[in-house]
Amino acid sequence: MKDQISSSPEKLPPALECRDVGRTFMIKRGMFAQKQPLKAVQDINLKINRGDVLAIVGESGCGKTTLAQMLLGLLQPTNGEILLDGQPINSISIKEIATKVQPVFQDPYSSLNPRKTIEQIILLPLIVHKIGTVKDRRERVEKYMRLVGLPKRLVHSYPNQLSGGQRQRVAIARALIMEPKIVVCDEPTSALDVSVQAHILNLLQDLRTKLDLTYAFISHDLAVVEHLADSVAVMYLGRLIEFGKAADIFSNPQHPYTRALLDSVLTPDPSLGLPKITLGKGLPNPLSPPSGCYFHPRCPEATEECHQHTPVLKDTGERLVECHLH
Ligand code: SF4
Repeated sequence: MKDQISSSPEKLPPALECRDVGRTFMIKRGMFAQKQPLKAVQDINLKINRGDVLAIVGESGCGKTTLAQMLLGLLQPTNGEILLDGQPINSISIKEIATKVQPVFQDPYSSLNPRKTIEQIILLPLIVHKIGTVKDRRERVEKYMRLVGLPKRLVHSYPNQLSGGQRQRVAIARALIMEPKIVVCDEPTSALDVSVQAHILNLLQDLRTKLDLTYAFISHDLAVVEHLADSVAVMYLGRLIEFGKAADIFSNPQHPYTRALLDSVLTPDPSLGLPKITLGKGLPNPLSPPSGCYFHPRCPEATEECHQHTPVLKDTGERLVECHLH
């Protein structure tokens, strides 16, 4: 089924693949307390084919940022493996990873050095990895500033002289200057005004076509990914609970959590009324997750079985769902 979700016709390996990937942190809750395992990510199996956009969605604390860090090679899985172009990521040099996959982070305010000019910020990865001459680097900065819609006159400006949207364009240009084929976008629009979010999403869509990019797009907001994603992976408390083609997930969500996430999306049409928010209780503590199905304390459809038995991720033909109802 995971292969059916692919829209890539070639026989090449997926751009990125997770095989049974998990990451556990040992956490101490107090000075004299014993360390406890916190399973931030558990048994994730995903593929992102070339040119596709995979959206990874879920609430804060569901493990999506930990997964993003592993996809970037910044964090090693404690079990399973991540393959980049079919090769285990831990067998690839940092420089090679940087030429294949680059991040765009959530907050353009804190991710840009306030003491550096826009040119210095964008070309920094080239200096770190000793790529190109001074002239080549300048030309690349100009090229990527143009591609992301930044006027050339800003080249010697500082981040505090730019708007939020312009700063995020700088962060995107900095990611693209290494000419990667994969970009991991970790909530790239959530720190921006709503009016600016649409411009950045359109820019990412344009760049995907022009540069033949593959995106792993992390978001807590399903509405943000609706027009960008080819496939959607929904995470809950470190687990993958639904995975399928974006059109199927949006038209017919099968997991109660996915339905609740979609129900909580605000619509611009006032005639549709207020959203049915069904996620009243907060996310459970990941250090002591609930028994059975992790979602049962918040699930309107929970049964006795859900309290006792953890569901397995099942292939329903058109998607993967982890719920006893399927
Ligand atoms: Fe709800 Fe039970 Fe399905 Fe979990 S397994 S999502 S509690 S119905």
